[in-house]
Amino acid sequence: MEEELRLLQIDNPTPAQIATSLDEIEEENKKRHLSVVLIGHVDAGKSTVGGQILFLTGQVDDRTIQKYEKEAKEKSRESWYMAYIMDTNEEERAKGKTVEVGRAAFETEKTRFTILDSPGHKSYVPNMISAASQADVGVLVISAREGEFEAGYKRGGQTREHTQLAKTFGVSKLIVVINKMDDPTVNWSQQRYEEIKKEMRGFLKRSGYNVSKDIQVLPISGLLGTNMKTRMDRGVCSWWEGPSLFEALDAVEVPPPDPSGPFRMPISGKYKDMGTVVMGKVESGTVTEGDSLLVMPNNTPVKVLAVYCGEKKVRRAGPAENLAIRLSGIDDTDIFFGFVLSSVANPIGAVTEFVAQLKIHELPDKFVFSAGYKAILHIHSIVEECEIAELMHQIDMETKQPIPKKVYSVNNGALVICRIQVNNLICIEKFEDIRQLGRFSLRTKDKTVAIGIVIGLPLHQ
Ligand code: GDP
Repeated sequence: MEEELRLLQIDNPTPAQIATSLDEIEEENKKRHLSVVLIGHVDAGKSTVGGQILFLTGQVDDRTIQKYEKEAKEKSRESWYMAYIMDTNEEERAKGKTVEVGRAAFETEKTRFTILDSPGHKSYVPNMISAASQADVGVLVISAREGEFEAGYKRGGQTREHTQLAKTFGVSKLIVVINKMDDPTVNWSQQRYEEIKKEMRGFLKRSGYNVSKDIQVLPISGLLGTNMKTRMDRGVCSWWEGPSLFEALDAVEVPPPDPSGPFRMPISGKYKDMGTVVMGKVESGTVTEGDSLLVMPNNTPVKVLAVYCGEKKVRRAGPAENLAIRLSGIDDTDIFFGFVLSSVANPIGAVTEFVAQLKIHELPDKFVFSAGYKAILHIHSIVEECEIAELMHQIDMETKQPIPKKVYSVNNGALVICRIQVNNLICIEKFEDIRQLGRFSLRTKDKTVAIGIVIGLPLHQ
């Protein structure tokens, strides 16, 4: 009984407490919310930049920093202590919280941000895809250190692959941070900065970004925190006249999300805590405490016990928010990543096949793309084996019209319409209905083979 009371107290504070905290939250929620994904080649400094952001926004105290510094020193990796901050998710996992994509939150003047990232993971790409599919803004971290930019950028480096995946999964705005500008081989050299910027702009343009509208490039030192929260001192870098990273993030313009539409939240994290808590980004609609919803595809009715935005409890939350939702009516073991929390009145369909428009990127050597081709499908938080059931049409690249001729196989660069099958039920949407639930990539042997959008779903689901 005592235990029950204690729980009640946590969950049901006094009316006065509720009023104060809800007012505070509603005030804060007037700030828009954006999700950020950190991308870039291994060792470019993603974890360091993430850790430094949390330190600069006061979310890590000096004692913790000292602890990390000591630990890093003991491992003879003095310079890595900032990166350790982002790795605290490992501890959470050890405590039994299964979180596919790590989350950390911070605020600037106009915006609440969630950093979606899992830099410590070995199999980084699937996690990166899950994060990118939830992100509004990408921070592409590039190392300016001699040799490192070149290694990350050349064929096989992750800079290209991550950037292309980010574009595929709807990250329309990128901030390119040229990092490690403090390194002795760079020493805030304007020439080195301009050289990398020029290469990157050319590449991003070829990847389909509108370079003048969607891309901002700036120099930083993640390790020292220079030009991150505030603009840097002329004494450090005499030539830079642009914004700091926080200013650039605050200035990013993305269209405000539409709160109407059926509720959809793909589940990308879960844990057990007084019920089942699921985490994800709301892609459509709004959720209110007390709502009845469905977990799809297993059609389980659930009730929303509480909604958390970061650490704070809220009554109601709309699209673009990253939430943790406490549910009753389902066990956490019955939920898998890629399941979708969905409205009851207008539930998301569950399918084992769909029609897609695909652009073939890069097939493995000696492979052709034809019916029977098997790949791994990545769509929102879903990772699922799939098979091409039928090539329906090839599209003429010039006219964008279907070529009126039976097609049996295609090669790199082709645009095709095909039917794709999976073994398990998955919840997806047509791209034209909810974009983030309708764009995907196909991968084989750890390489992106094709990217695509869902254009047709079976009528009777
Ligand atoms: P990640 O693999 O992209 O997450 O890279 P990390 O954040 O783990 O950093 C890789 C290495 O680069 C570590 O030794 C960092 O201390 C170092 N590093 C990261 N940012 C900077 C920086 O701004 N300046 C310098 N000099 N080193 C950095």
